[in-house]
Amino acid sequence: MCSRKAMDKRTDRLKRVRVEGRGLLDSVFSWSIEDVLSKDLYKDQVEKIPDSFTSTAHYMKAFIVPLQEETHADLLSRAESLAGAPTYRILRVRKSKDHKPPKDLFYEISMEQTSGGNVPWVGDLIALTNMKLKGVDDLRETQQTYPVAFVHAVKGVYCFTASILSSKPIEDEEELNNGKHFAVHLTNLTTNLRIWRSLHLELEGRNLNVIKKVLQNNFNDGGNCTICSSSKNSDAASACSRDLLQSFNLNSSQEAAVLSCIDTARCCHQYTVKVVQGPPGTGKTKTLGCLLHSLLRIKCRTLTCAPTNIAVLEAAARVVRTVSDVVGYETYGMGDIIVFGNRERMKIDGSDHNDLLHVYLDNRVEELEKCIDPSIGWKHTLHSLISLLEESEAQNHLYLQDNIGDENLSTCERLVWKRFSFSRKDLESCIVTLYTHLPTALISLEVMKIMTRALDLMRSLENLMLSLSAAEEGLEQILEEKEDEERKLHYRIKLRNEKRECLDTLLLLSQKFQLPKFTDKNTIEKICLSNACLYFCTVSTSAKLHAIRMAPLHCLVIDEAAQLKECESTIPLQLSGLHHAILIGDEQQLPATVNSQILGEAEFGRSLVERLVKLGCKSHLLNIQYRMHPSISLFPNTEFYGRQVLDGPNVKETGYSRRFLQGDMFDSYSFINIADGKEEFAGQQSFKNSVEAAAVADIVRRLIEGSI
Ligand SMILES: [Zn+2]
Repeated sequence: MCSRKAMDKRTDRLKRVRVEGRGLLDSVFSWSIEDVLSKDLYKDQVEKIPDSFTSTAHYMKAFIVPLQEETHADLLSRAESLAGAPTYRILRVRKSKDHKPPKDLFYEISMEQTSGGNVPWVGDLIALTNMKLKGVDDLRETQQTYPVAFVHAVKGVYCFTASILSSKPIEDEEELNNGKHFAVHLTNLTTNLRIWRSLHLELEGRNLNVIKKVLQNNFNDGGNCTICSSSKNSDAASACSRDLLQSFNLNSSQEAAVLSCIDTARCCHQYTVKVVQGPPGTGKTKTLGCLLHSLLRIKCRTLTCAPTNIAVLEAAARVVRTVSDVVGYETYGMGDIIVFGNRERMKIDGSDHNDLLHVYLDNRVEELEKCIDPSIGWKHTLHSLISLLEESEAQNHLYLQDNIGDENLSTCERLVWKRFSFSRKDLESCIVTLYTHLPTALISLEVMKIMTRALDLMRSLENLMLSLSAAEEGLEQILEEKEDEERKLHYRIKLRNEKRECLDTLLLLSQKFQLPKFTDKNTIEKICLSNACLYFCTVSTSAKLHAIRMAPLHCLVIDEAAQLKECESTIPLQLSGLHHAILIGDEQQLPATVNSQILGEAEFGRSLVERLVKLGCKSHLLNIQYRMHPSISLFPNTEFYGRQVLDGPNVKETGYSRRFLQGDMFDSYSFINIADGKEEFAGQQSFKNSVEAAAVADIVRRLIEGSI
């Protein structure tokens, strides 16, 4: 038996707050202000990232020092432009219950906004100061006394309470409570901390199968699985995909890329990395849309990532559009698609992406939570409608047997119908929410059809009821005649039949459909995530998927893969159960931005795609461009694509030529002399020329106007 002391110690350890990626954070905390400001801090430690690697350990290790240097360079450039940094007034600081010196210096800090709409985020690095910082010298001065800190958790809207981990002890907490101290935002470390965890195998997935395929030029680009090629099912499955492909009207290079990716995705015997190269205007997004749609059809659990939220949303929007076009059952099937990420950063509620609300996880959870509400939720409204219809049927039965008078019936019925109308609206919204948001694994097409039928019947019943009561009111004003009696009887019989049908349908629905075991937001989120098929998030956010217990993902698609630093792509590549990675991008376009000047030569900004192509990995080239006039495409095609990209028929049409600018042109190029321009220093080692910028803006405006 454990002694009490030992037990306490163990519980204490279990409860201890963990800051993930702590190793990198400790490096940041170890830098003095002079270290931060020194451009050469890591100069002697940075080594060039090799083109191939001897082991996964060698691979991961190669990125670690460069990642530290990049974090350092980012902080240095922020320190040089402090004047406009978001600043919060400190209201109160106190040691938190997790405060355990010497390392775990956790504090709870309350802050309020000073100006602008900035809010602190989890992952922010802040400097505590006694002044609003205007430049590096201020920072240097205040850092003698005050620490920098890492925002570990935060809540609030205008006033914030944050849990922070401080780089050094705060000597006098009382001093900071006088309203004259500030927290200044320096940078956000979230992505780099996630990369750090990934490189140190601290992410829960720890699946190195796919990564092993990219170490050297022995990668597998699929299509050579002997088990799959001998299986009879494979032909049938690819025939099924071919039908779908035709509906997308792809050109042959797009089709070949999609087919090859689907063939690979169906294999569960080996691990594969594939590259699809899409030069500008070659229909990369359309191809991606078709590929993801096909993967959805074959129920291949796939995560689609991109470096930025914008690219993630564009890919998701493309799939949502094609799914609603093809499925044809309203929004049924959307539950198989999930977009997740930070609501504010994704700006999904904005008008641009309203169509994505149906697939956005946070929104989905909120909507589904309404279905378990005790008064307007699924179970309550369904049962109350069933009992109302049963009650009303009994009354009607009595009427038709002449056992109940007209007047009594009308009074009873009016009450019943009032209740019916309320419950119908609630049930209707539950039904729409359920078939929109539940993954199809939890709601069959058969149930969906019964649901739509129930919706139609309930609406028609209510209309019939309305016209019956209108007719009855009209009838009361004229003398009772035999003919009216007959009409009333006719209505009653029709009403009885429709009620019966509606009741039967609702009863059938209650038998055929069981609401999943939703108890609260967490279970709803978990059940949705476990049963969907296509997932979308940024590469960095995919770190969160590691922590969720769910069925493994089979396939990873990275869009804009050439703009992603290789070390960052290790985050989704390590997801548990992953077999295949499809990288879509164009290594001829600009790579990821790197802040550090030292890292320029070290290949830190290089993407996995670029390295693989360099090692000789064959890519699927989308080879027809539909955007540029041939006289414009000629240069990039000759210079970067070895003349392999053909001009689409649309750009070769005579009417495709445009002329938006006046003045002399040198064939397809124009040189414009901006005489009054003047270069001015814009901070951060860059210059600006406002007159030139205005001229460019004017040209772009004219081009936009001309293209509409
Ligand atoms: Zn196989």
